Amino acid sequence: MTEEQQRAALALQIQQEVIFDSMVEGLLLLDERGRVQLANRAFTSLFALTADIRGRTIMEALRLHQLADLVRSLDTQKQVLGFEMKLPGPHELWLQINAAAIFTDQARRQGTVLVFHDLTRLKQLENARQEFVANVSHELRTPLSLIKGYVETLLDGARDNPETATRFLQTIDRNADRLKLLIEDLLTISELESGRVQLNLRPIALAPIVAEVLEDFKGRAAAKSVTLVNQAPDLSVRADPDRLEQVLGNLVDNAIKYGRSHGTVTVGGRAIEGGQVEVFVQDDGPGIPFEALERVFERFYRVDKARSREQGGTGLGLAIVKHIVQCHGGRAWATSEPGHGATFYFTLPQDSGTLQPGRR
Ligand code: ADP
Repeated sequence: MTEEQQRAALALQIQQEVIFDSMVEGLLLLDERGRVQLANRAFTSLFALTADIRGRTIMEALRLHQLADLVRSLDTQKQVLGFEMKLPGPHELWLQINAAAIFTDQARRQGTVLVFHDLTRLKQLENARQEFVANVSHELRTPLSLIKGYVETLLDGARDNPETATRFLQTIDRNADRLKLLIEDLLTISELESGRVQLNLRPIALAPIVAEVLEDFKGRAAAKSVTLVNQAPDLSVRADPDRLEQVLGNLVDNAIKYGRSHGTVTVGGRAIEGGQVEVFVQDDGPGIPFEALERVFERFYRVDKARSREQGGTGLGLAIVKHIVQCHGGRAWATSEPGHGATFYFTLPQDSGTLQPGRR
């Protein structure tokens, strides 16, 4: 090769490397002896490689039998598409690999090219979807089986005893309500997750809307001798009033449900930096174990399943709260000192305009 040809070959190689390194997919090129000729930047970061693996075989470089077997299978077939594998290691990593044998013009095997897509996010979404469907089916089946059981007992003769019949019908009614609530919450979650929610944003004075929500829960609080305290400051937020009521309602409902009898539920807030208002709903009940503080916002996660169901909970209340708050650009979290109650916080943008009276 002349000096000029060498320079041109080098320039071409550099240009190819730049192109390969700009790819999102991991790329691995093996020579005819199965040794690494090229590994692009995405490949190096997918496999968290720190050393140069050029010149090594797959087994020497990565110790992955599945991958070595895949390359070997290309001795008998030209290409393998959509091969999926999970990488061992502390972090879940799923890969989809498309591999092809490279041949020269004379049909002699020249090497192998492998392209790696990171499938982890898709796999996680798919798992979450399957888990959700399983949870929903389970949640729907429980009240439905109860309804069916009581109806059958009534048809089998229990209806002849008016006292028993009334008791059974009340149970059926309660479980039908539970089903309705569950379906309403599921529809809300699906609407919020679809991202199609239209927020009717306007300035809302905090103290009056808190007063309205607490008024709605007066009966339930009284039944447990719980005192409701409105400490909301004289601030306005920019939010959708119906959604804000839903958030406050879910949190106050939980605070009464899971708080203690003769306890106190306090709603308050303050302006914080970044033009936000932080609102809290605090109870003095048994609280939440530290390891469950984040998980309570997951769909269907309950600290005490039996207790939640007995109280008529759907397990979706806090997931709805989190979604609504996030749609407003805020965030929701909880703190707790077990034995001394739980405090739920959320943030909303503060309204810079004038305070407005309550909406009703
Ligand atoms: P649920 O319908 O079960 O109330 P949520 O999503 O509203 O569903 O709440 C999830 C779980 O979080 C509840 O089942 C309960 O275990 C826990 N939790 C929520 N609020 C409180 C609270 N104020 N004190 C203690 N535990 C709470």
